[in-house]
Amino acid sequence: MTLTAPTQPVYALAFGAHPDDVELACGATLLKIMDEGQKVAVCDLTAGEMGTLGTAETRRMEAALATERMGYATREQLDLGDSELFYSKENLHKIIRIIRKYTPETVICNPADERHPDHMKASRLVYDACYYAGLRKIKTFDGDGLPQTAHRPRHLLYYIQFKQLDPDIIVDVSSTFERSRGGIEAFGTQFHRKEGSDEPQTMINRKEFLPGLEARARALGEQIGAMYGEGFLLPTALGVEQFTCVFPVRT
Ligand SMILES: [Zn+2]
Repeated sequence: MTLTAPTQPVYALAFGAHPDDVELACGATLLKIMDEGQKVAVCDLTAGEMGTLGTAETRRMEAALATERMGYATREQLDLGDSELFYSKENLHKIIRIIRKYTPETVICNPADERHPDHMKASRLVYDACYYAGLRKIKTFDGDGLPQTAHRPRHLLYYIQFKQLDPDIIVDVSSTFERSRGGIEAFGTQFHRKEGSDEPQTMINRKEFLPGLEARARALGEQIGAMYGEGFLLPTALGVEQFTCVFPVRT
């Protein structure tokens, strides 16, 4: 008898190069998916230890708080090395192991065109891992040494971060955007620079940053006649199985 590793199925698995990437870029969409009754897991490829603010430890605690507030099924941190997120067979296989462990239908990750080099590298690694995870001849094993079953996610979406990218789809997140702030604000060391503080200023701890994020969600929402939207890019054309699910009848 051949034993294979057990899986912990989720519908969506969201990857981020750093803790907080996911919450900032697609937190409201993840809440919407959970509101629709599906499980979501998050995987941070690094602990974010090279960020100007916070330490690996504080960022881990913040990620745990965000996980609790958002209600994810689980969160993994791979510790592949902030600013040292290199393309290697070892890193690729660590990501394949996570995909095969959670067998998601949908993977969401950093976009390929971004300001932070780690985001671009994460995007390439996750794209490739999604494909290679489906090849039976690539062997991986779980923590107990049991062989994992090949699994290729059906859908891959890239969220939008710093760069103003043109989305292929916009998700109406009017019902979840306010709630998603709880996940973002869990990362207290990153976004809240007190007046007169001697902490260094970063792109994301300026007081204009969070209102800017809301302005973008409003602008994306306007494009689809909604209050708030989150945009995504697709690596391939969107397949339509049920026409009226994608193009619903006006109610
Ligand atoms: Zn990041």
